[in-house]
Amino acid sequence: MRPVQRSLLPDHATVEPDGSMAIGGCRIDDLAAEFGTPLFVYDEAQLRARCRAAADTFGAGRAIYATKAFLCRAMARIAYDEGMLLDVASGGELAVALAADVPADACVMHGNNKSFDELRTGITAGVRRIVVDSFDELDRLDVLHGEGVRTPGGASPSVLLRITPGVHAHTHEFIATGQDDSKFGFNLGNGDALRAVGRATDSPSVDLVGLHCHIGSNVFEASSFAKAAEVMAGFAVPLDLPELVLGGGLGVAYVDGEEAPTISQWGSVLLDACTALGVRSAVSVEPGRAIAAAAAITVYTVGTVKRIPDVRTYVAVDGGMSDNPRPVLYGSGYETFLTRAVDAERPLVARVVGKHCESGDVLAFEASLPDDVVVGDLLAMPVTGAYGHSMGSNYNKIARPPVVFVADGQSRLVVRRETVDDLLATDVG
Ligand SMILES: *Cc1c(COP(=O)(O)O)cnc(C)c1O
Repeated sequence: MRPVQRSLLPDHATVEPDGSMAIGGCRIDDLAAEFGTPLFVYDEAQLRARCRAAADTFGAGRAIYATKAFLCRAMARIAYDEGMLLDVASGGELAVALAADVPADACVMHGNNKSFDELRTGITAGVRRIVVDSFDELDRLDVLHGEGVRTPGGASPSVLLRITPGVHAHTHEFIATGQDDSKFGFNLGNGDALRAVGRATDSPSVDLVGLHCHIGSNVFEASSFAKAAEVMAGFAVPLDLPELVLGGGLGVAYVDGEEAPTISQWGSVLLDACTALGVRSAVSVEPGRAIAAAAAITVYTVGTVKRIPDVRTYVAVDGGMSDNPRPVLYGSGYETFLTRAVDAERPLVARVVGKHCESGDVLAFEASLPDDVVVGDLLAMPVTGAYGHSMGSNYNKIARPPVVFVADGQSRLVVRRETVDDLLATDVG
């Protein structure tokens, strides 16, 4: 198998004269020595460039970073500073955004089951929009209105309604969200969407300013987005509301040979489709993965190499499903390489596994690696910047890894490694 494809590495990845990897001018072996492994390393300039590309493509206030892909204060700050708004899907995500000094007015609140507390906090903090997902949520907003809960300006909250357009995106079943059989949103096909518009329009509890849809995640085909835009336009154009949000979902290449549209190509497809369909509303999007995924690699240390003749080779690293559950959840594929030999051929087929007490704790099912991989090697997985750290857990009471941002030869720790004290912090029994 060929060396790892350079296009899967962060934009500012380089190979040093000795064959080792650096990102943003920082050698990975140095970072591993300083911060330990497992370690998430993000190319900060790439994060900034992707945010900027989204803001430039869609316009000020129309590119919304889906924070669930990867969130810490530093990331919230970067997205905001580079011209994006923030999509928060829980009270916790909102709290982190606010703790990063992102104004509430730059936050859009999501979630299919927002609690009274989350809604109350969002309204009183003054979030820009609440994307309402259900009739039960409209009931809760009525109750809060009755209790006198208002925005800082004394008004009812501005809301969008999440519409389920009945479009099946070509992606994994668990991350397809636009089809009729979905927990999300008001279904278009059965009339719920229209009933929700009627109710929100007549209600003093909310100020209806637009519609929203999100068909799923890691979608590669521009045609899926065009289809969703077409269905949404059919519904939205006659209503002529000021705003239309078409969600996120732009896919990224994870393994050799995959190719995804760029943010600006995606923008052209969506915006051209909307223009052609007569949409007059301001069109916004909410990319998460396309901003963060390709900017990071995860660095592990190899702890065991178990060769079972005629069966399989297992390479175990010091992390696993607790820092990247995607392979276990969705069967996702990743590339692997050794940071000391970025351009080495990778003839060994091995299963890269973690250190959790599960046979299912797999990071790469059919990984390609150099034949001479040994205990102590630094093994890297690229394209782990989205839905890795954010979906991590403490399973087996393993402390979550740190996050380091690198740029211009400088590294900065933005999330430190958890400690045993962190693991015990909530244990009051
Ligand atoms: C997850 C999600 C996004 C972001 O999806 P990506 O695939 O990461 O771009 C955007 N909007 C909503 C409502 C989401 O749930």
